[in-house]
Amino acid sequence: MNTDASNAAPTGRPPRPAWVEVDLAALAQNFRLIRADLPAGTRLLYVAKDDAYGIGAVRASEVALAHGADLLAVFTLGEAAALRDAGIRAPILLLGERLPDELEWVVQLGVETCVGNIGIAQALSGVGTRRGRPVRIHVKVNTGMNRFGFAWRDVEGWSRALAGLPGLGFAGVLGHFAQSDETEKAFARTQNERFARCLAVLEEAGIRPDLVHHCNSGGFLDLPEAHHDVVRVGLLAQGVYPSSVCRRLAGLRTVLSIKARVAAIQELAPGDTVGYGMRWTAERPSRIGVLPLGYGDGFPRVRNEGSALVGGRRAPIVGGVTMDALMVDLTDLPSAGIGDEAVLLGRQGDEEITAQDVAVLKRSVSYDVLTGWRARLPRVYLGA
Ligand SMILES: *Cc1c(COP(=O)(O)O)cnc(C)c1O
Repeated sequence: MNTDASNAAPTGRPPRPAWVEVDLAALAQNFRLIRADLPAGTRLLYVAKDDAYGIGAVRASEVALAHGADLLAVFTLGEAAALRDAGIRAPILLLGERLPDELEWVVQLGVETCVGNIGIAQALSGVGTRRGRPVRIHVKVNTGMNRFGFAWRDVEGWSRALAGLPGLGFAGVLGHFAQSDETEKAFARTQNERFARCLAVLEEAGIRPDLVHHCNSGGFLDLPEAHHDVVRVGLLAQGVYPSSVCRRLAGLRTVLSIKARVAAIQELAPGDTVGYGMRWTAERPSRIGVLPLGYGDGFPRVRNEGSALVGGRRAPIVGGVTMDALMVDLTDLPSAGIGDEAVLLGRQGDEEITAQDVAVLKRSVSYDVLTGWRARLPRVYLGA
């Protein structure tokens, strides 16, 4: 097993018996499969925001660029700086919107930024004019997500205003789907039509961007008509699908697993209870395994719900998840013992707990499950 050097304690302290396992070989394979599924002329942008959805932005980006990605995107200046500091020279796009005091740093870091309002475009125009070299921007069009971007409805006005600004280079024009991974594609089609109209008006205004892009993972899978020049893929690179109904890509493997070693075992008599509030009661002589990972590591604070895989079988979570530990019923797994590896997310034998399974426990989505593991839980890299 290849442990990331940054997780190894300088004192030779043993690794924590609970960890996030990141399979970089699976990540590389996923990028090759995604790349192979795209037409040769379509570029692949890897969305490495939020530490590459929890797996480590620098390492994940290096794998991505080596196996088919052409560009990167992150959300914050800090995330972009971390990639640049690690020596990554690929084009980086900042998603979202900048505030005026961030603009200087966009230029300093040599990254491109989305721009979705005329005030920021004017400020960047000033920066570009002063330094005598255009600032390259991606014009963000709000086609219906209503989060970031210039409103599609007002395209005549802002396209003319943008075209009149010196000191800007139009690296891209992009939109973002509010729904791309469901069977129902009517709103995605509406967004496509709005986007197409904006592109036409922009062209009339003299704005011909280098790259046009509208697709996230769901759009990449299910809306080939919206691929344009680049698709932006985040979630799918981890081998996790944005929905249960979107197209499947054969061979994708999940990259992130959550594992822990059994730290303690309690032998219970009928009537004994488990945990705070005595929320689970043994109905038979029971063996309770304790996994040293809890809500303080990002595991959902469920009670008597969910399971861990131990010995290739499902062991139900009993009692409430605590900050540092959770308890599982090992009664039907008499051979399980202290030190055994348990899987809270991922595969063991023929069983698998998916990000979607954990999302149900968290009353959330798989994106939130992947990004929700705290820094306290060390990352262990396989296949590096
Ligand atoms: C996060 C994000 C993506 C990536 O979405 P996935 O569903 O993870 O592929 C693409 N575009 C924008 C603007 C985003 O914010």
